[in-house]
Amino acid sequence: MSELQRFLFDRMPVRGLLVRLTNDWREVLQRRPGESAFPPPVRALLGEMAAASVLMQASLRFEGALVLQVFGDGPVKLAVAEVQHDLAFRVTASITGDVAADAQLEAMLNVHGGGRCAITLDPQGRQPGQQPYQGVVPLHGDRREPLQQLSLVLEHYMLQSEQLDTRLVLAANDDIAAGLLIQRMPVSGAGNLGGERNEDRIGLDEDYKRIALLAGTLTDEELLTLPSETLLRRLFWEEPLRRFERQAGESAPRFACNCSRQRVGRMLLGLGAAEVEDIVAEQGRVEIGCEFCGLKYHFDPVDVGGLFTPASAQAPGSAAIN
Ligand SMILES: [Zn+2]
Repeated sequence: MSELQRFLFDRMPVRGLLVRLTNDWREVLQRRPGESAFPPPVRALLGEMAAASVLMQASLRFEGALVLQVFGDGPVKLAVAEVQHDLAFRVTASITGDVAADAQLEAMLNVHGGGRCAITLDPQGRQPGQQPYQGVVPLHGDRREPLQQLSLVLEHYMLQSEQLDTRLVLAANDDIAAGLLIQRMPVSGAGNLGGERNEDRIGLDEDYKRIALLAGTLTDEELLTLPSETLLRRLFWEEPLRRFERQAGESAPRFACNCSRQRVGRMLLGLGAAEVEDIVAEQGRVEIGCEFCGLKYHFDPVDVGGLFTPASAQAPGSAAIN
């Protein structure tokens, strides 16, 4: 089963999260069988993105959706991972060219240096006109060197937007997507009488530095194969680590897609009657597949007619979209 483990270190301003997406990750891949499967490097990237977004959502506890997007200028145009407040996640990618079997971040998404990573926090029940918060970081480091690992890009983002030192280790194969996050805790609340700010503490906490260094020794192999308890014991056996049981009402990470016929209907409305009727004339009906879960939605001529008829003009009891 997929799991999320929270932990902290006694008397140190350091917290951690470990995520292992197992059966849920395999379900994501099973929904794209055969020809529709993403190339292996893209599958690995999406697995890392899924694990990373669950970690970020679980650390921020944001009341809404966290959307991690990487916009590329190479064969991969876009890779997306989305995680809801209850840790339901989904991922997809849009690919326009050949992805080499050994491609890393640069060869997939940053061939001409134009790749960008965006993290969007979209609040639940957002009002019309209210903008979601978005932070954007490039796919290169401070000396403009192209970054080859998603974890480095996201560490940069966490430092820039949250002013928090963060160490991320991510890995994924076709069986499991996993990640470890170590983070210096925000200096806020009762313990912060001196008015110290998060940015004043960047790179200064010795406990954080030591624990982050230990986290950095974790190999992909260990992250992908060891049970949580063994992994944490092996890495931090000299540290006063305290693991937390999952709280009541807190859900485990899981795959779920929130697409619906209603949303697809709204999307068709956005395309306009002329365009949609053209498709119906040509193909007999409109078929829209969800990019995230593979579900197919069909609209026949009657559905399309209802869609573009104002509700007031419809016979009582009929529904345009259901
Ligand atoms: Zn879907």
